Amino acid sequence: MKSPYFNQEHLLFRDSVRDFLQKEIAPHFDEWEEAEQIPRWAWKKMGEMGYLGIAHEEEYGGMNADFFYSAVFLEELGRIGNGGFGCAISVHEYMAINHIARAGSSLLKEKYLRPSIAGEKIAALAISEPNVGSNVQGVQTTATREGDAYIINGSKTFISNGYYADFIATLCKTEQGLAILVVEGESEGLHRSKLKKMGWHSSDTAELQYDGVRVPAENLIGQDGMGFYYIMDSFQIERLAGALLSVGAMRGILDMTLQYMQEREAFGRPIAKFQALRHRMADLATEVEACAQLVYHTSWLFAHSEFAVKEASMCKLHAAELQKKVADECLQMFGGYGYMEEYPIARAYRDTRVGTIAGGTSEIMREIIAKMVIDDKVYSNTDGKG
Ligand SMILES: Cc1cc2nc3c(=O)[nH]c(=O)nc-3n(C[C@H](O)[C@H](O)[C@H](O)COP(=O)(O)OP(=O)(O)OC[C@H]3O[C@@H](n4cnc5c(N)ncnc54)[C@H](O)[C@@H]3O)c2cc1C
Repeated sequence: MKSPYFNQEHLLFRDSVRDFLQKEIAPHFDEWEEAEQIPRWAWKKMGEMGYLGIAHEEEYGGMNADFFYSAVFLEELGRIGNGGFGCAISVHEYMAINHIARAGSSLLKEKYLRPSIAGEKIAALAISEPNVGSNVQGVQTTATREGDAYIINGSKTFISNGYYADFIATLCKTEQGLAILVVEGESEGLHRSKLKKMGWHSSDTAELQYDGVRVPAENLIGQDGMGFYYIMDSFQIERLAGALLSVGAMRGILDMTLQYMQEREAFGRPIAKFQALRHRMADLATEVEACAQLVYHTSWLFAHSEFAVKEASMCKLHAAELQKKVADECLQMFGGYGYMEEYPIARAYRDTRVGTIAGGTSEIMREIIAKMVIDDKVYSNTDGKG
């Protein structure tokens, strides 16, 4: 399909990302799902290909490419069919190091951004806590200033990459408000435990306990008291990244299902010939395309520096909800085989479920959209700047 958003270079980039993921990454998925870990060599290889710094500054090894390169990359990452891998990479690149890239000092960029883009360090972003998830402003983990350091106490949970991360950008409550501090993974007083999940098995998810963790004051990202603003500001890219991953995942699910429908026979003909199933696939293909166009339009707004809170929230809501429907209805086409672990549709179904929870729940997306469309609330990118 011709597109006003993707030019020839984007299409060539798409081919090379898809080819790389298929040849170098996908063959290892079963192993990584079992081990619940992505090996260091894979991060390194992604870094060498330039895929971990697509939107980041060239000065630190990034590509500084326009947003549609990221859109292509995230879509292909979703399409390759391992939600855990997609989560790990996107959290690292578009959520955790994003904060250092946008507000970090040159010292932090040298120490953490450069090796993260190279795939030599793994990053995590810790916002959620056992008692505080959707309400970011309510975080209870404290960072108390003592001379040239901050002392962190509290706990975080559901942190993607949190178990193996070399560093964790941690949202804390300070005397000034909220602040994001870079915490080394091996810090004294930081205790990490791995959580067992329903899906996304390749990605490690951790509970973190901070018992008097001492962090040098130079590890503060941007300004103390601005943490809420930084988090709110980056929610747009997080939601858009989530939606692009979903669009890619849905395209992958449709493709594998259509192929199966050509191969599987019932009553002497391919099941792709049954009208009841054809119409269902026609509906799904239409809905996915409509969703993709909203996501591309929002990507265009983002690429043009629009603070598109409403559209990004709509993208996250719609794409995550639609992905649940697509995974469910496509699994049905596989009959009993769809329920078997050796069929990738089984993993796709499992991995899909978390989409309406992680990165902001569907209910929170609806709350934001409702405030904007019903109460005429306007969000600006200076909200929370104090
Ligand atoms: C696999 C996985 C990976 C994750 N990765 C990360 C990560 O890397 N970093 C990180 O910081 N967090 C991460 N999270 C946490 C995720 O962002 C939270 O789970 C999510 O924001 C919801 O918070 P909660 O789980 O505390 O749910 P709660 O906030 O307790 O919500 C419970 C239910 O109440 C609903 N609800 C809450 N408030 C409202 C309201 N005002 N109106 C209507 N309904 C409401 C919610 O939608 C939900 O259905 C991850 C979660 C998972 C499962």
